[in-house]
Amino acid sequence: MSLGRGVLYVASATGLALLVRSIAFKPLPLWIALVAFGLYAAIVLGGVLAPQLEMYASVVWRGPHRSTSVALTFDDGPHPEHTRRVLDVLDDYGVKACFFVLGSKAERHPEIVGEIVARGHEVGIHGYEHDRLLSLRSPKRIEAELARALAVVEQATGKRPTMLRPPVGHVSPRTETAASRLGLDIVAWSVRGRDGLAKATASAVTARVVRGLRPGAIILLHDAAEHDDRRPVAAEALPAILRAAAGQGLSFALVSEYVEARFGEAEEA
Ligand SMILES: [Zn+2]
Repeated sequence: MSLGRGVLYVASATGLALLVRSIAFKPLPLWIALVAFGLYAAIVLGGVLAPQLEMYASVVWRGPHRSTSVALTFDDGPHPEHTRRVLDVLDDYGVKACFFVLGSKAERHPEIVGEIVARGHEVGIHGYEHDRLLSLRSPKRIEAELARALAVVEQATGKRPTMLRPPVGHVSPRTETAASRLGLDIVAWSVRGRDGLAKATASAVTARVVRGLRPGAIILLHDAAEHDDRRPVAAEALPAILRAAAGQGLSFALVSEYVEARFGEAEEA
């Protein structure tokens, strides 16, 4: 069991015990009840906001313990210009990565999605629109949104993706239900460059990612801005990041290898 789920169970059991105590004996003072409720709400919400806690789903957010590699991932594309720039840098260094694409953008630029695969990389989905509240939508709507993105990518590449990075990484029990119905494994990250922010600079992004480099790290960068046409600084930061990883003796794995290592072992056990 993940630590996050353990915390949720303990918090739920404690809440229930307090409730029973209030009913059976004497009601708790109001302020204690409010503090307890606030804490519980914070824990429940924290589990949605921090996928690494794995409170509501099994999430691959780092590689296996024995890794000697790191995995690169790019969100929010495809973009006809910026994605190609990232692909060119990756080609220069002979590194393969995973691109979590948005269905709506993939529909506008299917040729870029095809190019990502043709150049040896893998494609997962990041939703259809970049709906930041997707994890709170109805289960039906989440499933429909993800299925739509899957259909677009399958149409463009001839292959149905098996990995999902939910928008902004939020994972609720509903996200888990939709993902498992569609046969999608949820992938998060262990280090993010924050390169999609308007004020991001290549040097700050590089420094941030390099600080998080360790065996099994899953690195989150962007090959496109979330909504507008702004160029994320990932392509500029990439050469230094790739050199730093190589300097630490780290190779590059595809994130699907980490997924396979995690769930392959789980299924065998
Ligand atoms: Zn995103």
